[in-house]
Amino acid sequence: MGPDQEKRNQLLNSLPKPDEKRIAVRVSNAALKKIRQGHPWVFESSITHQNKNGKPGDMAVIFDQKRQFVAAGLYDPTSPIRVRILQFNKPASVNEAWFEKRLREAKEFRKPLFSGKDKLVTNGYRLVYGENDGLPGLVIDRYADTLVLKIYTPAWVPYLNDFISLLKSIEPHYRLVVRFSRLLIKQPAFLFGLTDGAILFGEPLSGPVLFKENGITFEAEPIIGQKTGFFLDQRENRARVEALSAGKKVLNVFSYTGGFSVYAGRGGAAEVVSVDISKPAIMAAERNWNHNLGFDTVKNATHRGITEDAFLVLENMEKTGEKFDLVILDPPMFAHKQEQTSTALAAYRRLTKSGLSVLAKNGILVQASCSSRVGTTEFYENIHQVAKAEGRSLVELERSGHALDHPVKIPEGAYLKCLFARLKN
Ligand code: SAH
Repeated sequence: MGPDQEKRNQLLNSLPKPDEKRIAVRVSNAALKKIRQGHPWVFESSITHQNKNGKPGDMAVIFDQKRQFVAAGLYDPTSPIRVRILQFNKPASVNEAWFEKRLREAKEFRKPLFSGKDKLVTNGYRLVYGENDGLPGLVIDRYADTLVLKIYTPAWVPYLNDFISLLKSIEPHYRLVVRFSRLLIKQPAFLFGLTDGAILFGEPLSGPVLFKENGITFEAEPIIGQKTGFFLDQRENRARVEALSAGKKVLNVFSYTGGFSVYAGRGGAAEVVSVDISKPAIMAAERNWNHNLGFDTVKNATHRGITEDAFLVLENMEKTGEKFDLVILDPPMFAHKQEQTSTALAAYRRLTKSGLSVLAKNGILVQASCSSRVGTTEFYENIHQVAKAEGRSLVELERSGHALDHPVKIPEGAYLKCLFARLKN
């Protein structure tokens, strides 16, 4: 063990431990009903009684009026989601064996990603999707031999040391990076010396990590990248784009590091254009394209990156009359708060309109939304309304959502919507 690892271990060992004594909590009837239906969030506003205060990560037990056990979970005094439930219905010790069971279940659930005789190598995937895998507030993504642990509540900090040793045995890896949510980064007092992007185990990282998705090589940036370094949630939608790309001229708007672009290239696109406002993203898109020149189809296609505001690029293309056979619109989250929903819908409408204006006859529109606050029906209807108002008509090919490794068990877990539609006129 090198001196760096020793220091990291010391830091992990020095993290606070949860209180031995549990916090007894009572909640409103409405909240009780939701918990009994399996929802893992107990909001501060629904707590009617609590026997003592606690610190992040202490175990809170929810009792009903008859003092019967209802659920137990992680207490977080810093968040309006005051308790994140781990165990429902009957008491259990939330210990190493308990965490191991959840991790093994999550692992088992992802097996189809690697089976099937036609499957090409995929070693970039989400191993744990928080609440949806019974581990609320925690996401674990894997990029080849690097694991990225993303933490959304300080309640996980007291469990980190044990959880990391468990991960080493259940999901062997060479490197472990920890990332914290934006809110948590602003509360360093609860992180006890841990920092966003810190490597908690394994070799330092001097650049991106290479991994494979359906046989395609991509770079991920676990330390500085968006999310945990790549948008794994679009894997299946990228594969759909691949299947639709042969001979096409493809425009990938909000391309980030060119995920959809490389799939389009492998699918036999003649020409692919990636647009993103971020220079590092476009540079990575170009490198990702080049990592895959081993595929004849990618080698025979051309790729062009444009670093500019997407709305401007689309406007200019409309002016010059440039057309594409397949247009992908996968913008960032437009609605961070409930109040922003209508602004988000307006932005989607603007995008649909611009997308349609650069779409060739019989062209395919692929439009996605990752804003969980924008409803599924609203999103799809919005697109059709714009098409109608423009005197165009779209025939739906498919509506799709998350990839298999982003299972949706709670309504808040569903955020991704993606429409595949063909322009009829
Ligand atoms: N489609 C991508 C993920 C897109 S994430 C994938 O499959 O990996 C959203 C991207 O939009 C980010 O890369 C961000 O840099 C970019 N972006 C945000 N605002 C933009 C704008 N106004 N114009 C162009 N790109 C923008």
